Amino acid sequence: MLLFYGSGEGKSVMGDLPEQICPSCGNRAARTAVCVWDYVHLWYLFNFITKRRYRTVCKGCGAVAEYDRADARAAGLSDRIPFMKRKGWMVGVGLIALIAFISVRVDAENRQRLQDMVSAPATGDIYKANLAKIPGSGYKPGKDMFGTLMLLESGGGDRFLVATSNTAWDKKKGLTRNMDDLEYSVSRLDNGEPLTLSREELAAYVESDVIYDGERDAEGGARGEAPASDREPGEKGEMGDAESVTWLPPGSGEGSDA
Ligand SMILES: [Zn+2]
Repeated sequence: MLLFYGSGEGKSVMGDLPEQICPSCGNRAARTAVCVWDYVHLWYLFNFITKRRYRTVCKGCGAVAEYDRADARAAGLSDRIPFMKRKGWMVGVGLIALIAFISVRVDAENRQRLQDMVSAPATGDIYKANLAKIPGSGYKPGKDMFGTLMLLESGGGDRFLVATSNTAWDKKKGLTRNMDDLEYSVSRLDNGEPLTLSREELAAYVESDVIYDGERDAEGGARGEAPASDREPGEKGEMGDAESVTWLPPGSGEGSDA
């Protein structure tokens, strides 16, 4: 984010002072008390007053003289600096706090929704996940790879057979943009070593943000078509503008179960 900041000077009229003999014009004249202030700002939102000076201006000749803050207070005059200049930083901090609060709430609600989903997994559930952090997904650990998991069926008891998408992206937005094009690899099933995840593991992946989103068809049925088991893993090429990686078939020498 571009750090945009600056500084400036402003002045505010504090009020009128009783007449007195002006040392400049020699006339008996009223004076105006003025507060001159320096401020700095960040994005024009975080304003701080850095310095205040006090002056009087003769209403007769306009001569400016030094003034004292204590005298201004004694005369019942306040600085009258606009609120946003004085307290703008509070508004800025408040806004950021509000945004942070909302975002934490949204995260918490999303996580709760996902925990509810994985506590009772249903066939056809689609989960967005960082596949690189799921051993057995076919993606190498180390570099983030965002793809999807599709719950195929119960593996018996507390375990579930899960297919991984055959393409994943190094950025979440790559996955988001190409969600509709994803296919699910079941090669692991063909090999007799399907990716099986327990309810507990699913919950742990949600808790650690490895699984960060999920969809369930309203009718409870499968969202997409059943994965084609005769398709060669890795046949799908590059899609979209984010960097994608296709599924690595087992035995390709790039083991992912480390
Ligand atoms: Zn004067």
